[in-house]
Amino acid sequence: MHGERVAVVGGSIAGCAAARALHRAGAGEVVVLERASGRLQDRGVGLAIQNERYAELEAAGYLDARMPWVPLTRRPWVVRDGARRAGREIASLPFPFRSYRWGSLWQELRRRLPDDVDYRGGVAVRAVHPDADGAAVVLADGTEERFDLVVGADGHRSTVRAAMLPAASSAPAWGGYLAWRGTVAAAQLPGPAEAFPEDTATTVAFPGGHMISYRIPGSPSGEDGAADGEAARDGDGGSSDDGVRVNWVFYATPPAHLAERLADPEASPSAELTRELTDHQHRLVERYFPGYWRDLVRGTPEEDRLLQPIHDAAAPRYAHGRLALLGDAAAIARPHTGSGALKALQDATVLGRALLEHDSLPAALAAYDAERAPVGRAILELGRSLGRAHVLRTPDWASMDQRSFEAWWHENSGAGVGGRPLRP
Ligand SMILES: Cc1cc2nc3c(=O)[nH]c(=O)nc-3n(C[C@H](O)[C@H](O)[C@H](O)COP(=O)(O)OP(=O)(O)OC[C@H]3O[C@@H](n4cnc5c(N)ncnc54)[C@H](O)[C@@H]3O)c2cc1C
Repeated sequence: MHGERVAVVGGSIAGCAAARALHRAGAGEVVVLERASGRLQDRGVGLAIQNERYAELEAAGYLDARMPWVPLTRRPWVVRDGARRAGREIASLPFPFRSYRWGSLWQELRRRLPDDVDYRGGVAVRAVHPDADGAAVVLADGTEERFDLVVGADGHRSTVRAAMLPAASSAPAWGGYLAWRGTVAAAQLPGPAEAFPEDTATTVAFPGGHMISYRIPGSPSGEDGAADGEAARDGDGGSSDDGVRVNWVFYATPPAHLAERLADPEASPSAELTRELTDHQHRLVERYFPGYWRDLVRGTPEEDRLLQPIHDAAAPRYAHGRLALLGDAAAIARPHTGSGALKALQDATVLGRALLEHDSLPAALAAYDAERAPVGRAILELGRSLGRAHVLRTPDWASMDQRSFEAWWHENSGAGVGGRPLRP
């Protein structure tokens, strides 16, 4: 880059990583425009990043071992079986992942931004008007600013994408099911402790869905008793402490009469719809869950739960003219792919590398588009395949053993979980 003025719209995971990439690539001025005025770290739950993908991002300088994490190694799959409290294990897979609390990861990325990156919270972008050598960004208060490049890190309802592509080409599609998410303090877990070893991501499988649970670091703001930013693992892994929480993600279809109200990607579930869906989840848990896992869900306070209707999308292009997209603005990865935050960080890494390797902005953006747009489409397809197998057309889990489970897992793209290597 040659000192260009760049706007990054959105200051979440993708936005912070993009700002870092642009700064390192030689942008003259990087301005992050983030609609939210509060602290993003107070929202969000857990996410997991596969160890090899982590290592690539560490080598590229986007993640480091001082960001709090919890090591995971194994993913047992269990089903309800009579009165066995923890259920019966049908199979177990290696699970070489690090888990993060979404909020602490965001906070650490934000904290590492160089001082001269101008991060403006509480600033919403209303529209973007591109032209031949830049774009005008219109803010919610009506003021307008000009930039040489505008990077859309503004999530699944991206304003930058709307300026770059016809809406129909990348409109989010309803997946037909949703994720109920929650966290609960590890100290509040029901007994017995052996039901849920610390390094596992245990998955309860049932007809029409599943739930994955794993531990995540404590809160970055310390409200669960953890020290600021140093909750569970700091450096080489450390020891577990009181701030650790358990993150669970429960996938199932909604009752048929509610499905239509979830199909609109623009609408967030109302309080009444949330109550009905929570009741639905509780009915499924009562019917299909072993006692330990039922108690875990039941013991999760309402304020620590959230609903995520599953939508997906992939933009056909990641860059055009002086606009570029990354993270969820470019492609939404379903949570089962284990690659939402990872993909955002990889997008930023590749964008930064392309800007360093090419002399002109158009050449760099073309290289970025060529490398990342196919990845976005592949992750979309992977998510759909996993969604069909794990939620919409579940197998008869209870009749499976390790061998038949592994065959099913490979047939249904399980090997893709955790994301693709950074270099194709
Ligand atoms: C508060 C929050 C909590 C989350 N929690 C989790 C979690 O627990 N687990 C998980 O797997 N994923 C979570 N996600 C989603 C996850 O961050 C993404 O799937 C992935 O990391 C890609 O991130 P992103 O930065 O592309 O998109 P997002 O994280 O969705 O960020 C988009 C950002 O753009 C901002 N924005 C949108 N429109 C405008 C506009 N017009 N002007 C200015 N700013 C705008 C939004 O406020 C938001 O901060 C969360 C997202 C957010 C925003």
